[in-house]
Amino acid sequence: MPPLLIKSVWKDHDLVDIFINEHYFQKIAKSISLDEVPKNTRVIDGAEKAIIPPFYNAHTHAAMTLLRGYADDMSLFKWLSEYIWPLEAKLTREDVYWGSRLAILEMIKSGTVFFSDMYWNREETIRAVIEMGVRATIGVTFAENLMSPKSIEDNFDFLEKNAACHERIQLAVMPHAVYTVGDVLWRRCAETAQRLGLVLHTHLAETTEEVENCIQKTGKTPVQYLDSLGVLNQNVVLAHAIHLTPEDIDILQKRDVTLVHNPSSNMKLSSGKMNISALMKAGIPIALGTDGASSNNNLDMREEMKFAALLAKVDGGPELLSADEVFHMATVQGSRAYQVNAGLIEEGKLADAILLDLNNERLIPNHHLVSNWVYAADARCIDKVICHGQILMENKSVENEIEILERVKKFAAKN
Ligand SMILES: [Zn+2]
Repeated sequence: MPPLLIKSVWKDHDLVDIFINEHYFQKIAKSISLDEVPKNTRVIDGAEKAIIPPFYNAHTHAAMTLLRGYADDMSLFKWLSEYIWPLEAKLTREDVYWGSRLAILEMIKSGTVFFSDMYWNREETIRAVIEMGVRATIGVTFAENLMSPKSIEDNFDFLEKNAACHERIQLAVMPHAVYTVGDVLWRRCAETAQRLGLVLHTHLAETTEEVENCIQKTGKTPVQYLDSLGVLNQNVVLAHAIHLTPEDIDILQKRDVTLVHNPSSNMKLSSGKMNISALMKAGIPIALGTDGASSNNNLDMREEMKFAALLAKVDGGPELLSADEVFHMATVQGSRAYQVNAGLIEEGKLADAILLDLNNERLIPNHHLVSNWVYAADARCIDKVICHGQILMENKSVENEIEILERVKKFAAKN
């Protein structure tokens, strides 16, 4: 892929030139002349555009785009056990591949270049990520209620052999939840993640039912239970984290874990509301995620930012979770949680970016671009999406998108 030189683009409050080479932002300066860059550099006119970091979706289940709209408006446990798990049991590897491609298409078009994925048939999602040019942390998922002992062993084997599988992909150990994984397997997952230097990611304290059952079974809240097993540390990322006691928050702070806020899914499944105020006061890092497209029902991180900010303000006051803070969650915190050297437009960072069209009606007037991006914009404001120094979307189009749509329509027709 040729180097890129973006001329005269707005970055924060300055007009700059940006040179991207070998996947990184190599130089950002007031002016970079064509003499300074290789002959094969592609020059992009940045006039009337702003460059900002793209999104890092910290919790999703990509191939669940296949189940979008399949079962709505019911409780989490009924939704999972009566609808989602039975249909998922019928999914083929090819289905997961096309479902993942649809998810990635939707993410690129709405400005997301990275996602953390917990699902089955991970090889198919890995294939889709490699082909479509985005980044991902791909989960090796454990759920004892849905897996044979052999497939659990196969998972550990896969982790040992594939820990460094591609420059845009890293693996993570992903036990599904405290109610689907037992003590022994939890300890083994934690030990494996620590030994291989991988992130461990799980769902935690999503519903009151989960917390009550955990207390009944173990005498501890889900946070205290995982802490007692030695699971929690700075490489752990916990999705949802809604129903927490003050003691739980103390533990999460001491162990330096990152949480993922999933406001749309939490509202839609009526799971509850993350205590943003208490968690921010405790200084616990929070990233943002869409969750799967069957509980959201899209993968639009910009929409997720707006929901997060508005939900926080309902009873937290208008100052809670400003536009800048929620943008930081969706960009810097998401990339940091998964150890991706990105999330900022800075020399030395991986070259991931969105170019926004400053002539879009939703970005005018431009008193505060981040505020417009969080509260007013939509995906139509995006002019280009860049990941790893490569343009993944321009002129509103992504490579092979028609084929993806047709394949998923065929899947829907047979199920
Ligand atoms: Zn989830």
